[in-house]
Amino acid sequence: MRNTAFVVLALMIVGLAVCSYKAMKHDKSIKHSLALLLLALIPPIAGNLIIIASTSRLPALIGCYVYFLGMDLAVAYLLKFSLDYCNVKWNNKLAISVVYSLFTLDIIQYALNPFTGHAFDVRQITVGTAPYFQTVPYIGQTYHRIVVYGFFFASIIIFAVKARRTSRIYEEKYLMILLSMLVAGIWESYYIFSGTPVDTSMIGFGIFGFLVYYFALFYSPKVLVERMLASIASDLPDALFFFDGDRECVWANRQALELIGNESGNLENVGPMLAATFPKIKDIDIDREWKTDQVIGTGENARYYTVEKHIVTDDKGIFAGTFVDVTDDTETRRQLATERYNARHDSLTGLYNKEHLLKSIREMLRKNPDVPYHIVFLDVNEFKMVNDVFGKDFGDYALRCVADWIASDMTENCVYGRLGGDTFGVCQPVAEFDPDRINEALENFVVRKGDKEHHLLIHAGIYQIDDPDIDVSVMFDRARMALSKIKRVYSHIAFYNDSIRETMLWNQKISAEITAAIEERQLIPYFQPIIDNEGRVVGAEALSRWMHPEKGLLSPAAYIPEFEKNGRIIDLDKYMWRCACEQLAEWKTTRPEMFVSVNISPVDFYFMDVRLEINKLVREFGVEPSRLRLEITEAVMMSNIAEKIQMINWLKQDGFIVEMDDFGSGYSSLNMLKDMPVDLIKLDMAFLHDSMFNNKAKTILKSIVGLIDLLGMDSLVEGVETEEQFIMMKEMGCMYFQGYFFAKPLSLEEFEKYCDNAAA
Ligand code: C2E
Ligand code: CA
Ligand code: CA
Repeated sequence: MRNTAFVVLALMIVGLAVCSYKAMKHDKSIKHSLALLLLALIPPIAGNLIIIASTSRLPALIGCYVYFLGMDLAVAYLLKFSLDYCNVKWNNKLAISVVYSLFTLDIIQYALNPFTGHAFDVRQITVGTAPYFQTVPYIGQTYHRIVVYGFFFASIIIFAVKARRTSRIYEEKYLMILLSMLVAGIWESYYIFSGTPVDTSMIGFGIFGFLVYYFALFYSPKVLVERMLASIASDLPDALFFFDGDRECVWANRQALELIGNESGNLENVGPMLAATFPKIKDIDIDREWKTDQVIGTGENARYYTVEKHIVTDDKGIFAGTFVDVTDDTETRRQLATERYNARHDSLTGLYNKEHLLKSIREMLRKNPDVPYHIVFLDVNEFKMVNDVFGKDFGDYALRCVADWIASDMTENCVYGRLGGDTFGVCQPVAEFDPDRINEALENFVVRKGDKEHHLLIHAGIYQIDDPDIDVSVMFDRARMALSKIKRVYSHIAFYNDSIRETMLWNQKISAEITAAIEERQLIPYFQPIIDNEGRVVGAEALSRWMHPEKGLLSPAAYIPEFEKNGRIIDLDKYMWRCACEQLAEWKTTRPEMFVSVNISPVDFYFMDVRLEINKLVREFGVEPSRLRLEITEAVMMSNIAEKIQMINWLKQDGFIVEMDDFGSGYSSLNMLKDMPVDLIKLDMAFLHDSMFNNKAKTILKSIVGLIDLLGMDSLVEGVETEEQFIMMKEMGCMYFQGYFFAKPLSLEEFEKYCDNAAA
């Protein structure tokens, strides 16, 4: 008897110590309270063990003290565990100090017991032949029992209340521990009150310890799991149908019942109703896994579903049932569609954006290799000005109007979009292209918004795809290059041809080469003689020529227009003025009367201080300013007239002779004649050539020469090619002459020879 109880209690102590250690390693939050409770159970069990093992009075007494004080410890930690486990926050300070006081009092009275003997005593009994010790309780022991039972019941009550209050799902979690406590309590009480000679009451507490350890850490009630799963499944957005092995529906969530229109919640008809909802799924009843996309309804009301059937098997892999999972993809699809739309379309106009346009054109060309297509590049001219003058809102509106026009003009065989900013792109079958219609539309493109109105100037460059292997973006480059051909305002469309591309490449090439060409003196001045009315060579116009190392002698037409466009003309002009001054300096003694006219491009006035540059040059070479004549064109007068007039006056003050070049070639007006303070007017050769066959033109020319004279200016006529012209102009009163009749522009050597021959 003694040995068995001893072994059992000792094993329990070891077991509880191990459990306590393992509990600490666990990751549930209750682990601390649990581990402490398990440890606290060890002292009373140890006390119990000592009492049973004792064969003399003293160890039995010690065992009793360990037992009773240990009991205090154990119930105290039981209380703490109960509060923690049941999530009861207990902050009442008074109540807490009462608890402490009750325990403290118990400890004190045990401490006094050796002297007073009021709590308990032990007496020896004999069981069989062996001596055992039994507690004899006095009043103090009753107090101890009240405290211990009190707190034990308090713990039971905490669990009972929690179990009642909590949801049905969790009830079990508390009930299991409550039950263990009751078992331990009854076991203990049985020993205490039945008066069995050998007290093994703590075995009940040990078992309680193990049960709590198990329930608190490892036991998860089946019902709880089931309920939780069901609750999660109910909250899932998917519709879920569970079928058993006989294809009877055993469970369906709310979404599932709603989907098939089952309001009653009666599970009997779920199978057929599900089949009716998705009539296109033929094998909806077949017990194997499948997945399909389904559409219900059409257009705006269409809803998209993914329907999946899954097989459920038991632990051994034997078929147990199936479940059908229906996902409603409608929102995701709509969102995806919107995102896709936004990624492909321009937000302002709703047309395709550049990337998507190029991609779509590539696809169309690949699909229809036999259809001839045009690539059209549309550009709104001076759109920045529209924004600046009318505001961004109007600008946006204007772009939308262009987009709407493009969209309305195109058939489904075309692809079109916005390339960016104020440019649009179209790919259209050649057969559908009607240049007259487009020209007319572009001619009358007026945008009206509120009280604002503006005539948009839109140009279309067109490339007919002759090489389908080049990339679409290159095709658009070509179409855009064609725009460079549109110079006149009244034409709106231009076609790309290879010469445009060559011109562009050429322009790029010479622009890259110009600086080096000037340094290497590939650019040289030619001199075209200027004759006075007595036939004497009085001066020369310096005209540039480019001795190109690959292309030979280039005339200005090959490079001047491009340099005027990109501003490089200022380098060329400065260089030509320097050459002229250099030459004048050389002629100072040999030909002191000779003058040289140089050209000043309108662009020069934009990018440099012409007056400063020219004065610097004549000073550097010590040239008399009147020897250097300055040719400016009417184009200079197109803007800031007052400023230009001032400039001319200053140049005249500096001693230069200023000439108006190409008079009559552009939008010249007689009016300008009186405003321009120039010394000489150079009549454009077109004037002369017209008047040879046209009497009216001749009369006009004559009166202009007279007018120039009247205004106190000299006149020079350019392009004199025949003696007849020379005589006619001389009779009209012209002062100077220039033209092939006398000489073409000549190299320096030729020019000097020409002068010497003329003088001889
Ligand atoms: P421009 O200033 O009007 O020069 C006169 C042009 O008429 C020259 O052409 C000359 O060769 C040509 N010409 C002269 N007499 C006759 C004739 O009897 N019949 C015909 N059909 N043509 C005649 P070029 O040298 O080709 O120069 C063309 C234009 O290039 C010049 O027109 C001028 O505007 C510009 N240019 C030439 N060199 C320079 C320069 O160094 N700087 C600037 N800014 N422009 C230049
Ligand atoms: Ca000139
Ligand atoms: Ca001229």
